[in-house]
Amino acid sequence: MNIHEYQAKELFRKYRVPVPEGHVAHTAGQALSIAEQIDGERWVVKAQIHAGGRGKGGGMKVTNQLAEVETFADRLIGSHLVTPQTGPAGRIVHRVLVEQAQDIAHEYYLSLLIDRGSQRVSVIASDAGGMDIEEVAAKTPGKIVREAVDPAIGLQDFQCRKIAHGIGLRGKQIHALTGLLKRLYRCFRDNDAQLIEINPLARLDDGRLIALDAKMSFDDNALFRHPDITDLRDFDEEDPKEVDASGHDLSYIALDGNVGCIVNGAGLAMATMDAISYYGGLPANFLDVGGGASPEKIANAFRIVLDDPNVHSVLLNIFAGINRCDWIAEGIVQAIRDQQIGTPVIVRLAGTNVERGKAILAASGLDFIEADKLDDAARKAVAAANGETA
Ligand code: ADP
Ligand code: MG
Repeated sequence: MNIHEYQAKELFRKYRVPVPEGHVAHTAGQALSIAEQIDGERWVVKAQIHAGGRGKGGGMKVTNQLAEVETFADRLIGSHLVTPQTGPAGRIVHRVLVEQAQDIAHEYYLSLLIDRGSQRVSVIASDAGGMDIEEVAAKTPGKIVREAVDPAIGLQDFQCRKIAHGIGLRGKQIHALTGLLKRLYRCFRDNDAQLIEINPLARLDDGRLIALDAKMSFDDNALFRHPDITDLRDFDEEDPKEVDASGHDLSYIALDGNVGCIVNGAGLAMATMDAISYYGGLPANFLDVGGGASPEKIANAFRIVLDDPNVHSVLLNIFAGINRCDWIAEGIVQAIRDQQIGTPVIVRLAGTNVERGKAILAASGLDFIEADKLDDAARKAVAAANGETA
């Protein structure tokens, strides 16, 4: 789960990680009154969406005019913002962060993330902050320092000093970064985070280090331990169909193709998508119904997949272990009947109770295309999506 910059900065404050004075605003009027209460003579107004690239995409403004805070907030709130990270569809801005503008001497990159390679939390830092870190890594890998944290003993002072030296900090700033990193690590660990990214971490003209941007995401499987973090979820930032699906315990991710997929198990779902691509088609989604799927769950899966107008055929591929093909078949019959599905449905069932499942489908008298193997199923699904018969 991702959260907004202003939410991450509020969490940082609790851990005494320095951030600029600021507050979130839902209206232009609020933005103005927040700016009036902030010390200093320059303010930054930043669109709050779950995507970066706002600096380049017109999603933020630095100004020394109070009136401009209001007019810019007014322009941003409710607007459709497209940045290099949102994709062409962009995002609607519902709120803005108004904060004190800082006098920046230098911008660094800093992140903490779970590195699957070392199976540890890694700290990644660079002297080349404020820009696309993937590009820095590709063109000038020498500019990136990395330290893996031993979970038994936590982030050590010597590691922090190494990172500080690696990004060119000197004197008191080495000590400052050490404190900041250790508090950030605690914030990461306490909250079961997956990522904390500060790009940029700024060194100010007066020497202080401060987080000017903040991106944070959390391990969904640990959210039950953190009701306060769970409350920060913003449904406006998520695909409504993905939210609908997660409410029915279905893992669904919308894609751009025209072959809908209903599969059990993430591995088989990936293999199904590969097979569809192999036959020249494109999957419209990833969908894993999981184990022990009830007929209702299957019917919901059909409803969610077919809600996408691009779907021209649906491939249902079940290799039942914990699942039962008879329940799956009941779900298919229920869906085709109740939802009056006109789209071609290709069914491939294998495993537990497969004979019973096939009998239910045959007895229903409904129209669907049967397939025995994944290969056959994918070929038929692609052909059906193109209005052909395989
Ligand atoms: P994004 O990553 O979406 O472009 P950032 O928060 O990183 O947004 O802001 C982009 C740039 O704007 C930063 O690299 C920094 O130079 C500047 N900036 C952001 N916040 C402030 C601030 N409070 N004061 C001064 N400059 C800022
Ligand atoms: Mg940034």
